[in-house]
Amino acid sequence: MQLVFATNNSNKLKEVQALIPNYIKLLSLKDIGCFEDIPETKNTIEGNAIQKAEYVKTHYGYDCFADDTGLEVDALNGAPGVYSARYAGEKRNADDNMDKLLNELSKYTDRNAQFKTVIALHLNGELKTYTGICQGEIITKKQGEKGFGYDPIFKPAEYNITFAEMDLNLKNKIGHRGKAISKLVDFLNSLS
Ligand code: IMP
Repeated sequence: MQLVFATNNSNKLKEVQALIPNYIKLLSLKDIGCFEDIPETKNTIEGNAIQKAEYVKTHYGYDCFADDTGLEVDALNGAPGVYSARYAGEKRNADDNMDKLLNELSKYTDRNAQFKTVIALHLNGELKTYTGICQGEIITKKQGEKGFGYDPIFKPAEYNITFAEMDLNLKNKIGHRGKAISKLVDFLNSLS
């Protein structure tokens, strides 16, 4: 079986590649000649994941899956959520996004937050979604060099290190994307 993972994010690709069994040939957007920005214009995480998967199927004809992720902060009523990538502006800069979040949160004592990933799978004419959530808190300053995005300021519950201080395997085991992907893999395995 071959499946496109509809992302241009090399960090996501690395995380997901580590979780997908060998019998599935994972193709990147580059592999199928898709170099444009795929629209993400919906106002929910699930809506954006579905939009990306449908775009690849419609324009390139491949079965595929897409991921959309947001960081939902309790004190900010779930913001930045679906707007996580552009939280500090169109540049989508991770440091700017983290700085803005740390600044906003400095007024609050409640620092609880969760990452939410929705994977949308387009396979054999059917669409399915899988959700993964990881709860934790936003710490007060950046820690760690690994990972990407908001990883340096997110400490998952029951761990004393941030995602940016964790090995890929541990982040994948306890993280939002890993949980959603393992549901996807269970489904794919059930087909064979
Ligand atoms: P998207 O799913 O690529 O649209 O990501 C939305 C935003 O969340 C971007 O700013 C990403 O950098 C960030 N993000 C997505 N996944 C993760 C993650 O696993 N850790 C930290 N930040 C993430």
